[in-house]
Amino acid sequence: MASMTVANPPSTAVVPEVVEDLASRETPKAKTPYERMSTGQFLVAAAPMGLVHILALGVIFTGASSTVAWACFALWLGRMVGITLGFHRYFSHRSFKTSRVFQFVLAVISQSAGQRGVLWWASHHRRHHKHSDEDNDPHSPRQHGFWWSHIGWFYGKGAMETDLDRVKDLARYPELVWIDKYWYLPVVALGAVVTALWGLEGFIVAFCLSTVMLWHTTFIVNSLAHVWGSRPYETSDDSRNNVVIALLTAGEGWHNNHHHYQSSARQGFVWWQIDLTFYVIKLLQLFRIVWDVREPPAHVKAAARKRG
Ligand SMILES: [Zn+2]
Ligand SMILES: [Zn+2]
Repeated sequence: MASMTVANPPSTAVVPEVVEDLASRETPKAKTPYERMSTGQFLVAAAPMGLVHILALGVIFTGASSTVAWACFALWLGRMVGITLGFHRYFSHRSFKTSRVFQFVLAVISQSAGQRGVLWWASHHRRHHKHSDEDNDPHSPRQHGFWWSHIGWFYGKGAMETDLDRVKDLARYPELVWIDKYWYLPVVALGAVVTALWGLEGFIVAFCLSTVMLWHTTFIVNSLAHVWGSRPYETSDDSRNNVVIALLTAGEGWHNNHHHYQSSARQGFVWWQIDLTFYVIKLLQLFRIVWDVREPPAHVKAAARKRG
């Protein structure tokens, strides 16, 4: 099974330094990251997401049994942990190591969030860190306004493309390239399973409503977490720490911490900074499903305690 791990790849080691090196090659060119679509183009491109929003309102008519309501909550929180642990802390930042099999599992779970594919997500997120709150940041509230950073950029012209130069370390795996190409399969399969289990009520509440909740609680990391909260670290961007966002996003609200020390699997640097995703990573580490979990050095944690 040694050949099935990505712990020590022979030539192209998957470590955060690689991420930084890939990112540092780019010279900013465009004044704005993506052109805005015309209204007609936007309505077509955003139709599936818009339709899920409208269907979620159907909860007014279907109501929800306690089972389906709990399923909605579990699918929101479970997928939130999945996307922050997978897309963000593993694929974008390589903040821990795991087997090739579990790497694929993380890609599938993350893609059940309905936010495109693993290569797409990681390439845009690495661009965000390389150009945080500069012109070339795909979603900066400072540069392009709150709603652009929250959702508009997702439908910018060219925003659906993936810059493979930024994710060469991920594109080495054919299974990741495949699942990225068919990014919608996990989310469609989830919708089908939920509907088979609980019928129309399950589809509307457990699938559509939880997905809408998941989209917006994820998107506030790009929008609100760059405008609302405290800045214990003087980073060059506008990133903030915010306990409300941290609770809604399984720990992603310690965003100023994260911009200060990006390669850490832990974003709540001190004990009271609740970071659910990190607790799940530690649990996976206990069962040896993940390993080499990166944390900030002692002096960074000490500074967090002092500034907290
Ligand atoms: Zn990040
Ligand atoms: Zn950010």
